[in-house]
Amino acid sequence: MYYLPEQNLHIVLGNLQESYNVYIPEKKNNTLYYTLFSSKHNSYSIDEVRACEPLKAFFFKAREKVAENYKPAASHMNTKPLCIVGAKACDLKGFKVQDYVFLTDEFSDPFYRSMREENLIISADCSTALDTCFCMALGLKPYPEKDYDLNLSMLEKGCLVEIGSEKGETVVKNNKALFQEVTQAHKQQKIKIRDRVQKHVQLNIKNHKIPKESSLKNRIKKNYKGAFWKPEAETCVECGACNTICPTCHCFLLYDQGDAKKMARLRVWDSCMIKDFARVAGGANPRPELWMRLRNRFEKKFDFFPEVLGINACTGCGRCITACPAKIDIRKVLGRLTGNA
Ligand code: SF4
Ligand code: SF4
Repeated sequence: MYYLPEQNLHIVLGNLQESYNVYIPEKKNNTLYYTLFSSKHNSYSIDEVRACEPLKAFFFKAREKVAENYKPAASHMNTKPLCIVGAKACDLKGFKVQDYVFLTDEFSDPFYRSMREENLIISADCSTALDTCFCMALGLKPYPEKDYDLNLSMLEKGCLVEIGSEKGETVVKNNKALFQEVTQAHKQQKIKIRDRVQKHVQLNIKNHKIPKESSLKNRIKKNYKGAFWKPEAETCVECGACNTICPTCHCFLLYDQGDAKKMARLRVWDSCMIKDFARVAGGANPRPELWMRLRNRFEKKFDFFPEVLGINACTGCGRCITACPAKIDIRKVLGRLTGNA
């Protein structure tokens, strides 16, 4: 572990620009959004909480050309690889699900792979929590424990840096003179901040009566009938925002544009909440009712992924709670599923 003073962190990010397109979270109207780092930046918010947009948007784009004139579209790797700074523990869990979907050998996605393999992930501890954050109910901590190249714990005038991979080690080696020894006082500051944020998230969990991860097992199977799901789906307007904002949702639609001379095949994000999502040729639809689609969303996250990947496909980031115009709140649905609410 090393200590990196604030001004030196700025220099390291500047140096990384030679090899990467460096993205950092920046605050606009009280919300964090990712923006391209420039050495002229004089304020950014690496700690705080997760950004508004899910990090999947960098690797699995909302809309991208995958083929042109009947040939695969040019690879993204004509540009520099990505360095994402300030990814949170919940963002890293999101990558686990996306990587499982897009990098499993049999169906590896060349576009996603090219973006992910070369990237550098510099994660960061949360220094606060939103009232919608509930990561700890789902087995996470509000600070990254693994799956990063470097992790930053922001302190008052600098940060502690932990190395998580060879790529991370190379960054430290290439900037060795900028890193300093860690003192006991630095370590204590880090523990204090981590404790404070954990208490905040625990309070959220208590206030919203969010069930523990262990009590979710088989709950959807036990509550499979419409009697449970119909009232839950009553206000849903089928906008799909809960899917598109979610860091673990990954479904997409392919469509062609153009004519016989010039065509492009495009891939766009899709939503399992929309009626036509599962409709097949001939018009048959396995989930014609809205409540069935809402149940499917929960089933995929809390039954299917624990079975195939050993983790549920929810990070507790709370983005869908904020995005849903119908005020359908995943914490409350989980509470009712487990008899907690
Ligand atoms: S389901 Fe909601 S809380 Fe869970 S990861 Fe997706 S957006 Fe975040
Ligand atoms: S965001 Fe809310 S209203 Fe929109 S599809 Fe999801 S649950 Fe329905």
